[in-house]
Amino acid sequence: MLDIQYIRQNADTLQEIADKKHIRLSIAELLEQHQMRSRTLQETEQLRQQRNALTREISAQIHTSPATAENMKQQVRDINLQLNQLEQQAEQVLEKYNALMAIVPNTVSPDTPDGQSDADNLLLRQTGTPPVFDFVARDHMELGELHDMIDTARGVKVSGSRNYYLKGNGVLLHRAVQQLAFDLLVSKGYTPLEVPMMVHGAAMYHTAFFPLGTDQTFRIDQQDRWLTGTSEVALVSYYQNEIIDLSGGPVRLAAASQSFRSEVGSAGRDVRGLYRVHQFAKVEQVVLCEADPEVSEQILQEITGNAEELLQLLELPYQVVAVCIGDMSQKTYKQYDIETWMPGREAYGETHSSSNLHDFQARRANIRYRTESGELRFCHTLNNTAVASPRILIPLLENHQQEDGSIYIPAALRPYMNGMDLLAAP
Ligand code: AMP
Repeated sequence: MLDIQYIRQNADTLQEIADKKHIRLSIAELLEQHQMRSRTLQETEQLRQQRNALTREISAQIHTSPATAENMKQQVRDINLQLNQLEQQAEQVLEKYNALMAIVPNTVSPDTPDGQSDADNLLLRQTGTPPVFDFVARDHMELGELHDMIDTARGVKVSGSRNYYLKGNGVLLHRAVQQLAFDLLVSKGYTPLEVPMMVHGAAMYHTAFFPLGTDQTFRIDQQDRWLTGTSEVALVSYYQNEIIDLSGGPVRLAAASQSFRSEVGSAGRDVRGLYRVHQFAKVEQVVLCEADPEVSEQILQEITGNAEELLQLLELPYQVVAVCIGDMSQKTYKQYDIETWMPGREAYGETHSSSNLHDFQARRANIRYRTESGELRFCHTLNNTAVASPRILIPLLENHQQEDGSIYIPAALRPYMNGMDLLAAP
């Protein structure tokens, strides 16, 4: 949420950002609604003053000049009618104004690449080398079926498309990557939280997933309760309407949760296997820090580095890309994606998203802190995946497969896999 004065002073830039972020919004219309709102409020105030003056005059005239008083009473009745109409008008204007304000995009960092979609993201660095197999490699579904670890047919039977069961060692791997990621964050001083995955619409709005992402979200009942697509919602909302203490440095949080996504608009995309599903587990890192662009930039590097460390522990080849403006969401100021090599796709596939939102989310959620000089300011918020599974199982199984179908277990995972260093081929 940006300040209306800021929007007025930067109308052209924000219109360009909205267009490039594919948000259908007219900043001119928003400013017009704001003006109408101010005008309506002014007129209302003037009429109220007139009415008060008349009411005082009526009391003075009622005994000396009853006819004048009667005439004034009629004027008061007319003003009341006008006020009623103005109030209705003000409500409509406010509704429209709020709806437009809700979709104004955040500004973007000067080093954000220009572009339309993920094809325009800018490669920053690559780590590790994609394996070259001298045998016919299997994809994760073939490996999952061979080891009886992944069953999408029964997932679809029970829950419809984009659903799955994990089984046996598939479950162990799924839980092992999450615990490894979670332990890594906790060892770095992140505070672990167990969070609600079912939240009110207000929390979705405050974290800027609503209104634009409403259709991506499963609503579970008529009582305005929604299933979150990421624990970022609950982690940031934990401090909603609070003044937080940043005197000891940034607040670093970690949560493991299920994530639910309707994936509306993805029909026909990534239909095979575990890449795009309706329910998955995610370990998330969220940081709240002072509103200093240098500090939040440093945190962005830190949380991206944490995810890279995890991928190195999993011995997976990956690349980091700077996300272009056209591939960014409304709330994002700067974003990196990490893409991990997926042999079955013969491509890098997104496994992590690291974002700096500056104070956009904190303004909506009303999260402030006190500076050293005692001033209250909105903080900056950032988030990144630590690991999302089962998507991470795709590169894990595919990169670490052996010719006989067995799967190598990286050393860092073994303590979470009963010491196993290989999933033997059945
Ligand atoms: P996001 O919160 O959209 O940035 O997504 C974070 C990570 O969650 C992605 O990089 C993926 O690893 C994973 N993810 C997102 N959507 C899905 C999905 N529909 N199915 C499986 N994994 C997903």
